[in-house]
Amino acid sequence: MEREVYMDYAATTYIKPEVIKEMNPYLTEYFGNPSSIYHISRKTKGAIDAARQRIATAIKARRDEIFFTSGGSEADNWAIKGVVFANKDRGNHIITTKIEHHAVLHTCEYLEELGFEITYLPVDEFGFVKIEDLKKAITDKTILVSIMFANNEIGTIQSIMEIGELCREKRVIFHTDAVQAVGNVPIDVTAMNIDLLSMASHKFYGPKGMGALYIKKGIKIHNLIHGGAQERARRAGTENIAGIVGMGKAVELATENMENESKRLTILRDKLIQGLLKIPGTRLNGPSGEKRLPGNVNISFEGAAGDILLMRLDSMGICASSGSACSAGALEPSHVLIALGLPEERAKNSLRLTIGSGTTEEEIDYVLKVITEMAM
Ligand SMILES: *Cc1c(COP(=O)(O)O)cnc(C)c1O
Repeated sequence: MEREVYMDYAATTYIKPEVIKEMNPYLTEYFGNPSSIYHISRKTKGAIDAARQRIATAIKARRDEIFFTSGGSEADNWAIKGVVFANKDRGNHIITTKIEHHAVLHTCEYLEELGFEITYLPVDEFGFVKIEDLKKAITDKTILVSIMFANNEIGTIQSIMEIGELCREKRVIFHTDAVQAVGNVPIDVTAMNIDLLSMASHKFYGPKGMGALYIKKGIKIHNLIHGGAQERARRAGTENIAGIVGMGKAVELATENMENESKRLTILRDKLIQGLLKIPGTRLNGPSGEKRLPGNVNISFEGAAGDILLMRLDSMGICASSGSACSAGALEPSHVLIALGLPEERAKNSLRLTIGSGTTEEEIDYVLKVITEMAM
């Protein structure tokens, strides 16, 4: 293979060297169990507190509102199941959207089997939820609204402030999956009226298997894992200290650099989009401009199946992702692209390229050249 070009940052990122540097001592020297009382444990306990504070600062929450999890999926599961189980005396209705990550959708499907009622809101052709649709869907049985902050496939950034305001007015608990938003979009949980927010460290250059759930003080929620007193007895188990430290450093770096880095990525993103749209029969999936994640490109081709395109790109060293997913052995078109109203064929013939910290303009030029030659 001539070269290696990674354009799948929405799937996961590498860990930044500064992050690894902060994690290292907690894998070697400082191994003490934070729940113990001797001096080496005070060091690890202090590191956890500091990381919790960094995460709270990044989303303008309080330190005691941040709970560590094993990633985005766990945070989503906990938020949704925990809230509906703790509030089922108030109703059994949950509102979400058709374009959520499977960590939210499959949790809702499971709750449906248990007797909860779910409304899956449609989205418009760019992936936006209409606030009017949400307003109409809320009933006196609604206990939870779960709407993602930014979409992992098409990059749509929802009007979270408006959604939060409506939920507060209707006294419905509001959860948002912000896994793709943290580090890319400014977040203020108080101003945006967010009650619960999920994040995952490996989407912003931190370690994998690490995430957090913000739970606003006063929100009724069931505990996730019963056992020891870790995470204020809500999520028991000895902490992943190095992971927590790494996540704290990663979120700090991501928010410090956010303004400059989003500007840089937006320019590269738009160059890639403009170049790809020159290929006859292509269309952009998702919005353009400020309401699209700075690193997200999603394009449909005419008559070039996404999976074949992907394999050919792979042979040229390019790592990307397609608009279909292998489920139960069959290639299924993406539920997100279908929700936009794309015909099945068109949805299958799509390509997601997500760029990030390591992406250069030279890489954009290379990828454009390769794809244009393949598709023409
Ligand atoms: C990656 C992702 C998740 C899952 O996070 P994990 O840490 O892999 O469990 C959930 N939601 C969105 C939007 C994601 O992009």
